Amino acid sequence: MIAARNVPAEGAGADDGALGAHPMVTTHTVIQARFIGIQQNWKVDRVESGLARRSSASRIDYRRKPDSMSDMTMRDMIRIDRPNNNERRILGVTSIALVAMAAACGSDKPTGPTTDFSDPERAEFVTSDIQNFWKAYDDGGAAGGTAPFQTDYLDRASPGLVDFVRSRNVTAASLAAMVRTYPRYFADIRASTLRLANDGTVQGRMREGYRKMKGMYSAAVFPPVTFLIGRFSTGGTTSSSGMLVGLEFYSIGPSTPLEELAQFQRDNVRPLDSLPVIVAHEHTHILQARAGGIFSRSKKNLLEQTMLEGSADFIGYLVTGSNINARLADYAIPREAPLWAEFKAAMHGSDISRWLYNQGSATEDRPGDLGYFIGYRIAEAFYARTADKRLALRAIIDMSNADQFLTQSGYAP
Ligand SMILES: [Zn+2]
Repeated sequence: MIAARNVPAEGAGADDGALGAHPMVTTHTVIQARFIGIQQNWKVDRVESGLARRSSASRIDYRRKPDSMSDMTMRDMIRIDRPNNNERRILGVTSIALVAMAAACGSDKPTGPTTDFSDPERAEFVTSDIQNFWKAYDDGGAAGGTAPFQTDYLDRASPGLVDFVRSRNVTAASLAAMVRTYPRYFADIRASTLRLANDGTVQGRMREGYRKMKGMYSAAVFPPVTFLIGRFSTGGTTSSSGMLVGLEFYSIGPSTPLEELAQFQRDNVRPLDSLPVIVAHEHTHILQARAGGIFSRSKKNLLEQTMLEGSADFIGYLVTGSNINARLADYAIPREAPLWAEFKAAMHGSDISRWLYNQGSATEDRPGDLGYFIGYRIAEAFYARTADKRLALRAIIDMSNADQFLTQSGYAP
């Protein structure tokens, strides 16, 4: 584990209304469906994609596994997405379209040729929107012009950005307002965002993580990740185009000026180097959703929700050597026994407010999101005592009985 500042807690971003507004509680989005296939003509559509050109053929086909979730209604699936203020950064909003797709694509029979998402070497990290954004910025956007953001950026949007624009009401005017509101910040992060696009190092780390995941968990799939610049109101979301990451949150350097930022932005901006850790955590949620275990339940108790999050942190650690809540260890390890006693007494209830998505009520005496730590430690204990590590990882991702898993972990601080 590494320490705090560059391993962010997950509570960032927000689906707020206006620039600088305080984040609203949003919906825990997880990919409820399965990244199994994609229509073949998607690539052509993607290359030339503009808002007007997008067609339903460009949608990923989320066919379900035949053995799970077949009894779930779309309403149930949406209800899974319990509101929280924690997953906002990457999985910050319900992908209604995605859920609808899942409901609509319930058939197990493919409807057309598909692209295989099972190969980490072919996983797509889409960065075209980043270059387009800075072209718009240079073409007059930095000076407050709206038109460049329309013609250079939005009109050339990748499918992921198209989805993001739709779900977040991004407009050329809102982008122009954003760079006017945070001029020094945007001038500073430019180089860092372009580093993701032009220098393969960070992308290489993410792909390396994917390879590692594939080696440990052969059922893993790797949907596209689109890195875009949003309105500085959410760190990301998911859609039928895969994971969408608001790179304006993850591009600070050691001397990036933060004075212009609102509090929640300041609390949640991270260096570009933290991106692989964030992506690994959220990717785990995609795999959990696909596995159809606890994730698929419409109602989850504290232990179950904790295990989803802690498992994502633990697997993120296996993949990247860090996790997004590593900062919690310094506080929690010396207090692990009493924390566990407190958690155990509450874990079959539905009140998660002292343990998860509660950074907003954190105090000096008690940090938020301690449930992530507890879940991590349980997953870690299970993994440590299971001889076959592949089986262990599969059990963690596919977990359907949290109580049984806890017993088997032997966790007892
Ligand atoms: Zn999470």
